[in-house]
Amino acid sequence: SKSAISTARPLPSITLADVGGLQPEIKQEILQTLTTLKEPERSAKIGIKPPQGILLYGPPGTGKTLLAQAIAKELGANFFSTSGSAFNEMFVGVGASRVRNLFQNARKQTPAVIFIDEVDALAGRRKQNGGEEGEKTLTELLVQLDGGHSNEGILFVAATNRKDMLDEAFLRPGRIDFSFQVPLPDTTGRKEIIEIHAKGKQLSLEVLASLDKLAESTSGFSGADLSSLFETASRRALRNGQDLIEKDDIDYAIDRTVLGSTSRSLNDPD
Ligand code: ATP
Repeated sequence: SKSAISTARPLPSITLADVGGLQPEIKQEILQTLTTLKEPERSAKIGIKPPQGILLYGPPGTGKTLLAQAIAKELGANFFSTSGSAFNEMFVGVGASRVRNLFQNARKQTPAVIFIDEVDALAGRRKQNGGEEGEKTLTELLVQLDGGHSNEGILFVAATNRKDMLDEAFLRPGRIDFSFQVPLPDTTGRKEIIEIHAKGKQLSLEVLASLDKLAESTSGFSGADLSSLFETASRRALRNGQDLIEKDDIDYAIDRTVLGSTSRSLNDPD
């Protein structure tokens, strides 16, 4: 609904430490970007302009939303979060006015992060973008990003699984200044993510001792898959009246997660 995209949401206390498996260079660049935003005067002196917008791209469930939340938290910013599909409207002008409202609201509550997930639904190449209405909405987004508006104190963060689908005008510096790839985690990355999600769980000694092996044997798993693996294992341990998550529960959860990634909705007994 309109109010849902126009209002800042209370931010869960996510920090960069909750996002596992980021490549060191990317983490470094993000930290540096945050510094330019936090210290604009100092940055201006050495000739660095704080970015207007950044893009996070990569497969589903790799932590793009999590990262956007962490960025907002690190900046102490209000978080305005929505999905590109929330702007797809049948009636000409409605999508554009939603974009306008979103930015107007954020300008009243700076510092603010405006996060748009699935931005390809809003900023896809014009030809494929659903005719006149889609075009008007995208044009409005471009206007709000740089059309003489003061976006001081606002960071625009967009996320997509389909960077190749995005309109070139949208990706121009001054609108999107940096693109960060958020790929599926490698073994080291999975180990980090596993440690994050294992933290709050009661694991048997056997499971604790085999977390390295778990990271090695979950090639292709996203952060979201690893998170759901621990949830599934916990629920099974609970059902069986155990105090600890055992090796069996983890093995069961791996199988369920492998099934789930191809046919999640058909195949989830939990
Ligand atoms: P989508 O493209 O589907 O929107 P996404 O990349 O935005 O996915 P998130 O929504 O951030 O992914 O991830 C879903 C959940 O999976 C997170 O809330 C978190 O619990 C877990 N998760 C995903 N990636 C990571 C990560 N890199 N580190 C720790 N947890 C993660």
